Parts: sequence; structure tokens; C-alpha cells
Amino acid sequence: MRLSQMLFVTLRDDPADAEIPSHKLLLRAGYIRRIGSGIYAYLPLMWRVLQKVSQIVREEMNATGAQECLLPQLQPADLWKESGRWDTYTKAEGIMFSLIDRREQQLGLGPTHEEVITAIARDMIRSYRQLPLHLYQIQTKFRDEIRPRFGLMRGREFIMKDGYSFHADEASLKETYQDMYKAYSNILRRSGLAFRAVEADSGAIGGSGSTEFMVLAEAGEDEVLYTEDGKYAANVEKAVSLPIDAETSRFTTYEKRDTPGTETIEKVCQLLNCSPTQLVKNVLYQTVYDNGITVLVLVSIRGDQEVNEVKLQNELTKLAPEYGAKTIISLNVPNVEAQQAWTAKSLPLGYIAPDIADEYINANKQIHPKFLRLVDQTAVDLKNFVTGANEAGYHVVGANWGEHFKLPRLVVDIRKARPGDRAIHNPEQTLFSARGIEAGHIFQLGTKYSQAMGATYTNEQGEEKPLLMGCFGVGVSRLAQAAVEQSYDKDGIIWPVAITPYHAIVTIPNIKDAQQIEIAQKLYTELNQAGIETLLDDRDERAGVKFKDADLIGIPYRIVTGRAIANGKVEVVERATRNSQEIVIEEVTTTLK
Ligand code: ATP
Ligand code: MG
Ligand code: MG
Ligand code: MG
Repeated sequence: MRLSQMLFVTLRDDPADAEIPSHKLLLRAGYIRRIGSGIYAYLPLMWRVLQKVSQIVREEMNATGAQECLLPQLQPADLWKESGRWDTYTKAEGIMFSLIDRREQQLGLGPTHEEVITAIARDMIRSYRQLPLHLYQIQTKFRDEIRPRFGLMRGREFIMKDGYSFHADEASLKETYQDMYKAYSNILRRSGLAFRAVEADSGAIGGSGSTEFMVLAEAGEDEVLYTEDGKYAANVEKAVSLPIDAETSRFTTYEKRDTPGTETIEKVCQLLNCSPTQLVKNVLYQTVYDNGITVLVLVSIRGDQEVNEVKLQNELTKLAPEYGAKTIISLNVPNVEAQQAWTAKSLPLGYIAPDIADEYINANKQIHPKFLRLVDQTAVDLKNFVTGANEAGYHVVGANWGEHFKLPRLVVDIRKARPGDRAIHNPEQTLFSARGIEAGHIFQLGTKYSQAMGATYTNEQGEEKPLLMGCFGVGVSRLAQAAVEQSYDKDGIIWPVAITPYHAIVTIPNIKDAQQIEIAQKLYTELNQAGIETLLDDRDERAGVKFKDADLIGIPYRIVTGRAIANGKVEVVERATRNSQEIVIEEVTTTLK
């Protein structure tokens, strides 16, 4: 493309209404124009960037077996009434634009597509043989944001890739979720972005597990808490931690709480928006002793002890293999039924804490014979206990609740985390804070929509079951701007090569010089033919203006047909590093390729 023929208008000064660097730069460099609050035109350079991001997204999605489609943006209110979301999305602070057609029918402009896709699945999916299935689209979404700002970062009209998957069972949903985790990581990595995947809140979309993909940047509207060992990262809305304590011991000893709370596991999970398995993972603390014994300590959740502990222990049983634990020592298994259930799972060793055991005996409650009762009330070092157990032929160990050992005596109020808190997976790790831009979000929806809307399938046994669903969104236009937010300098944008609108720009310093023009045009043609997408700055402007513009729009390579042509060379400048090299004209294409 020749700049002389393009709608190419750059601004010298920062536009008044732009607050963050990427927004200023995209406006100044002529990529976007504001049409209204949160409404932007994507001009030709921007559109090329968006197409490149879309293409990367498409390739990564297709590689997982997902299929592209295009769903309607105009959505009948009835569908949203079926799912129960119409009121919350359109009233009060709802983000859905709604309208009434000439037949007085209510419609909404799609902010997301769970309802539409569930209606399709309800119609078309009959049997487990059709599963799993994953459909996605790349499309404009509409959201009447309370605070549209920062240009494409938070628009009221923006481009999203949204995908929806359908499954017969939890395992299949989890598999696709993992595939998407990888696909999203690939998308961001390939787009040249530094990011972090974090545990997230599922918000109004609903469902159990969700992960956000955060592009790290100061201007990010989200706060992420993470540990340096890389084992914990969560959106601050979701993050949990151990309380900070003035005591300096490795583990905080909390006073025994005499008044058990009333929270059930379900409530705690709801509160923290996680599944019981995730909850257990969050409160699991792992130590590997020098003798190779692994101890898993399950931190007790304050609450209805009996109910909670049994459920947590059940979850722990499921998790044990993941941590390589072959035996689980269970403390405080509250009743004989629970103990039976416990041992029935062929977990060879159980343990009742001494005080509880006494309580049991005093109350004439039974203790399952397989449960070991430690009579020695004086604090037992878990390490010795475990070693003893090992010597007695029991293999590795998981345990919960170290109150009766010298080991961590943790009662945890899982709480909303703040920077500086101790991490839940390892109290030695502290939580650090970083700003992030949410570029993608993947969800395990479960049966929320299929149940509400009656989308079922027939399983192998001939039974009718609600479909399990996942949903996966990437903000294509937000991601494109986030790339700028991560990569610019005082002179302008520095595009990552993978999503740059053009790879190179041939600049003619003096268009009165016929030789400069000739060489520039030859290079321009040759580069484009070689697949290096190239612009030609053939405008009647001063060289300085052209150089400034090339820097501003952020094209990775600038080729200048200046003085060096006398020696059969051109100057090639790399935008990111400003490295400048004189290269023999005939070798430019092969060098850049
Ligand atoms: P946010 O928390 O920033 O409001 P969200 O959680 O509401 O985003 P999702 O419903 O998870 O967004 O949508 C998936 C993706 O769509 C987001 O991860 C983000 O990249 C993008 N997105 C959401 N809202 C906007 C918007 N107003 N403008 C641009 N992109 C958006
Ligand atoms: Mg939002
Ligand atoms: Mg969000
Ligand atoms: Mg989100």
C-alpha cells in the first residue's frame, strides 16, 4: 500500500480524552477514530491488526477441533427469559442493549451467546454420539458498559471470539477446558504478549471453575495476586490467603476456636466460587520431608466441623493420587459411618485425634477398628509419627489438621487476599500484586444453561441428561490494544511482528529524486511479492515527518532509500531496537525474510 493513496492522518499531540498510552497512540497513529462513547471505527491499519489477531485465534481454535460459525447478534428476549438472565442483563445496571421491534417484540443485542447456543444445542444435539462438540465465532459484541474507557479496552461495541462446548461428562468438559487453557496461552504467546493465567471469579456468566488470561500492564483494570514460585495466581476478586500474623513461627498458631461456625462446605465453596476439589487444593499444604515422606496437610475450614471434614476428606481422597499420597491419615473423622466410608475406600490408615477419641469414648460412640488411636496425648511430632507409620509398613501419608502435632496447627479463616499475605499453598510464599488486562476468560459452565433451557442428550444407557457446557472468550480488539500497552516508546507503537499491520515500510526521503523513487518502488514490489507486507511512503513530505510517522505507527522495519543508494545500499532500521544497518539493495528481501 502506498501512503499517498491511504487515508493516512496522524496527530502530533495527544488527544484530550485519551488517558492511557495505547489509547493515545492508536488515536494519534490513525488506527482508530472515536464515533461515540465506547464506539470506535477500526481504520484500515487497525483492521489489519485485528485480522491478524483473529487469524491466530482461528488457527489455535481449529487446532483443538473447534468449529467456526456465526451466531445472530439480535437475540429474542424470550431466550434470555428462559435462562433467567433477561432482567439482570437489561435492568438496573445491566449491560445488555435492548430494543423493541415493529411487532412489539423485545430483543437484545448480544453481549454474549450462551442462550443462543444452548437453544441450538437443544434443537440439534440428541445423543452422546454427537459429543463432545465445540462451536466458536469471531464477532462484534455489544455491552452498555457503565464506564466505557481506554479506547478498545472497554468499548460498548467490541470484537470477541466466543466459543461454547458441549459434553456428556465432567471429564470431557475438563479435557476441553485444558485444551482451551493451552490454546489461549498459545494465542497470547504467539501475539507477542507477556501474560499470566489466573484463577478467576465466574461472575454473571456462572459455572464453577474459571481462568482469566491477564496481559500484564500498569494500565490494567484488574489486580492479580501471585507468588514467586509460580504456583498461585488469582484475580484479587477471587484470591484467598492465610491471614498475616505477627508471630514469626513458620506457621501461625491460632487459638483454638471453641465455637464452630455454621458454614457448610457448599456455602464455603459458593462463597469462594469454587468446587470442593478446588477448595481442598486451596487449603492443601504439602511438605516433603528429607526422608522422602510426603505429608499433605489439609487445613481445616472453620465451620460445621463434622460435615466439612468428611467432605473435605473425601475430596482429599480423590486428590491423593495427584500428590502421590498412597495413604491418608485422617484426623477427627467424626462418626463411625464416616470412618467406615473412609476405610471402605481402602485407605489403610485413619487416625482419631486424642481429644476427640476421648470424647467418643465418653459419649460411648464407636470407633472403627481400622482407625488408629493415638493414646499419647503429649504432642506427637508428625514427622516421627509418619516415620513410624512408614516403618510399620504403611506407605506415604496424607494428613489433615495438625493440631495435635508439633506441626502446623492451622485453623484458617480463608479470606479475601491482599498483597503481602501468606499464600495458602505454602505459608512461606507471599502474595505479590500486579496489574493486568483481562484478555481472555475460560469457564466450566456445567449445566447452568442446559438445565434452565432444557438442553439434554441421551446417554449410552438411554437416559436423558442435561448437557455439560464450557464457554471460552477472547477479547480480540482488547488484546490488540493490550499489545500496544505492552510495547511502545516515546516515539510511538512497537508492534509485535505477529500482529503488525505491515512488516516493513519503504521510506523515500526525497520524492524529487528519481533514483530514490525507482529503488524504493522496486524494493516495495519485491518485498510484497516475497510475502513481506510492505508500505511505501511516497508522500510529498519532509523526510523528518516520514520518519516520525513510521516510528509512530510502529512498523517493525523501515527501509530508507537515502544517501546510501550511491553505494548500492539502503538503510534498514529496526523499530524496536533502533539498530540501523546499511544493506546491499539486492539483499534486502532475503535479509528481512
Ligand atoms: P471485564 O471484567 O473487563 O468487564 P468481562 O469479564 O466482563 O470483562 P467476559 O464476559 O469474560 O468479559 O468476556 C470475554 C472477554 O471479552 C474478556 O476477557 C475481554 O477480553 C473481552 N471484553 C469484555 N468486555 C469488553 C469490553 N467492554 N471491551 C472490549 N473487550 C471486552
Ligand atoms: Mg465486564
Ligand atoms: Mg472480568
Ligand atoms: Mg471475564
